[in-house]
Amino acid sequence: MKILLNNTSLFKSLRPFNDLGFIPTMGGIHKGHLSLINKSKKLCKKTIVSIFLNPKQFNNKKDLKSYPRNIKKDLKILKKTKKVDFVYLPKFKDVYKDKKKSRITLNNKDKILCAKFRKGHFEGVLDVMNILTKIINPNKIFMGEKDFQQLYLVKNFLEKKYPTKIIACKTIRDKNKIALSSRNILLKESDLHKAGNIYKKLVNIKKGTNNKKNISNFLIEQKKQLEINYKIKIDYLELRNKKNLKYTKKSNNSRLFVAYYLNKVRLIDNI
Ligand code: AMP
Repeated sequence: MKILLNNTSLFKSLRPFNDLGFIPTMGGIHKGHLSLINKSKKLCKKTIVSIFLNPKQFNNKKDLKSYPRNIKKDLKILKKTKKVDFVYLPKFKDVYKDKKKSRITLNNKDKILCAKFRKGHFEGVLDVMNILTKIINPNKIFMGEKDFQQLYLVKNFLEKKYPTKIIACKTIRDKNKIALSSRNILLKESDLHKAGNIYKKLVNIKKGTNNKKNISNFLIEQKKQLEINYKIKIDYLELRNKKNLKYTKKSNNSRLFVAYYLNKVRLIDNI
């Protein structure tokens, strides 16, 4: 596993290879990330993982400050897999020429779910994914369905611009069924337990949307109940079509999208 600390070393090392699988991450490596690596190992000749905590996608300074980081531990986990050929650890200046905000803008129809509640977040994500794709030039990029809206926006954006294919990978969950996330480390054991119960409740709510006449009212009521019963703040609880993210009244071909705060930690999921 070769560690690439700057772009000169990256260009030199990647030049001989044209069947690259790329897994972009912000570190805090967990089994969700490892599932993307496993898929890349199966489908591509070489696998490259990047660890870059992209400041431009954080709409909240406190969130960036508290984001879990432990490069030493991450590298140890990645090395142990024996499936990673390269780890790219760029500095800010390897990725960006200046500190200016992203020039990428979202269409109005995309300003939904997390884009509505985290202003500037996806503009920052698209900006960094655009630059990393240009620098690395991978055949395939592996991304998790846990961040479904991110996957949707990045796929639409990059596949129009580059020959690179975006491969969607299933959400990996822990024993409580909570979607694995680097931020879970910020949660207490009791919060993890609570999040597990919330997940079970969400699965039932999703089932409950089947054949409901007024899904919108049903979800408004369920959202209120969840907020009261679990003492959480929910940004959104919405049923949307999984192909185009439009509101839907049918529970097949749809996902129930949720974002909520548990003790100041923002969790997202889709079911
Ligand atoms: P992050 O480091 O959180 O930016 O995530 C890097 C990549 O890993 C993204 O494509 C995420 O969607 C994916 N990912 C994060 N958590 C999971 C999970 N629990 N299951 C599958 N993929 C995940």
